[in-house]
Amino acid sequence: MIEITLLGTGSPIPDPNRAGPSTLVRAGGQLFLVDCGRGVLQRAAAVGVGASGLSALLLTHLHSDHIGDLGDLLITRWVTTFTPDPPPLPIIGPPGTAETVAATLTAFNHDISYRIAHHADLTAPPPVEVHEYTEGLAWDRDGVSIRVAPTDHRPVTPTIGFRIESGPASVVLAGDTVPCASLDELAAGAGALVHTVIRKDIVTHVPQQRIKDICDYHSSVEQAAATAARAGVGILVMTHYVPALVPGQEEQWRALAASEFSGHIELGDDLHRVEVGARP
Ligand SMILES: [Zn+2]
Ligand SMILES: [Zn+2]
Repeated sequence: MIEITLLGTGSPIPDPNRAGPSTLVRAGGQLFLVDCGRGVLQRAAAVGVGASGLSALLLTHLHSDHIGDLGDLLITRWVTTFTPDPPPLPIIGPPGTAETVAATLTAFNHDISYRIAHHADLTAPPPVEVHEYTEGLAWDRDGVSIRVAPTDHRPVTPTIGFRIESGPASVVLAGDTVPCASLDELAAGAGALVHTVIRKDIVTHVPQQRIKDICDYHSSVEQAAATAARAGVGILVMTHYVPALVPGQEEQWRALAASEFSGHIELGDDLHRVEVGARP
C-alpha cells in the first residue's frame, strides 16, 4: 500500500486555500516529498509530518512554484533534527538541482552562521546529498524503489517524473508536462498517476498573453486523462489546478477527465489523501 497526500494543489498564483505544488508519498515506511511549493511545511504539519521525518526530497523540475519553500525545508529540517550527526537529506532532481540547492544554502548563509554560533550542537551547515537524474533507478532502499524518466515541459528542461514502487503498489508523479512517450512508458500499468492539470478551455480565454502561454507546456485535464488511459493506470489523481478548483465544480473537472479515462479519478483540496494498493 502506498499513501498519497496532496499537500499543495495550487499553482504559481497565490491562493488563500491552496499551498504550492507538493505531494507527500508514504511507501514502505518511507516518506517522500515530491516538490516543495509555498506553504509545504504548514500543510505537512497538518498531517503530523515534519521536515526531519522525510526520507528524501524529489524535485520534478526547478520552476519557482515547485521549489518555493526549498530554503524553509532545508533550514527547518536542519534545526529540528535532534539526533547527533544527522544523515544528509537526499535530494533527487534534474540537472541544475545541485546548483539550486547550493545557491539556496548560500542565500541562508547569515542564518546558518547565526545558528552555528548560537547552538553548541550545530557545528556544520545543513547536510544535503544531491543526486541529479534524467532517467534510471534513483532509489532502491528497504523494499522501495524510485525510477526516473524525462518529461516534456519545454522550454523548461530537463524535467523528470518519478515512479515509486513498494511491493505490488506503484505511484507515478508526472509533474508539469505535455503528453509524451517517456511518461507513458514510466506510468505503464501503475496503480496511480499524479498529474498536474490546467483547464485550457478556460485559460485560452484569459486576455493576458503571459497567462495563455502556460497552455503550451502543460497538459489539459483531458490530456492528462488520455495519458492515464494510454498507460493503463488504475487511478488518475489530478493536482496543480489552473485555474484554482472552485468548490462545487469538482464534478465538471471529473467529467472532463472521464471523457478520456474510464478508471478511478481523484481530485480535491489540499490534504486530500489517496490510498493505492496492488492492482486488482
Ligand atoms: Zn513547471
Ligand atoms: Zn507548476
